[in-house]
Amino acid sequence: MDNCLFCKIISGKIDAQKVYEDDLLIGINDINPQAPTHILIIPKKHCATIMEIEEADQNSIGSIYIAIQKIARNRRIAESGFRVVVNCNLDAGQSVFHIHFHLLGGRVMEWPPG
Ligand code: 5GP
Ligand code: ZN
Repeated sequence: MDNCLFCKIISGKIDAQKVYEDDLLIGINDINPQAPTHILIIPKKHCATIMEIEEADQNSIGSIYIAIQKIARNRRIAESGFRVVVNCNLDAGQSVFHIHFHLLGGRVMEWPPG
């Protein structure tokens, strides 16, 4: 997608601090971190919101949680805990319309979220 920020990061047209990559996903440090660890896990295939995920994407979406496990262990937040957030559309505050999973950790989280 020509106009998509995360597609540009995936293709290397825009720089980002990449902390994880496999065939299906990348993980990058969020530019405006909300916790000591704030990593965005982004499927390489463009998809605007979780409402556009198709059956053929199940493998890629499932593998996000395997990537999250690896990153959480690597960051030593697996035991202390972390939060995974996916914002969908405007009420949730989604601002980049290429699906991404926020992995937040390294501090105590509050509930309910704002
Ligand atoms: P959303 O609000 O769509 O759930 O999350 C978008 C996230 O992307 C935000 O946390 C925001 O800080 C992050 N972000 C926006 N632009 C960039 C960028 O150019 N680089 C990186 N690494 N993160 C970005
Ligand atoms: Zn995209």
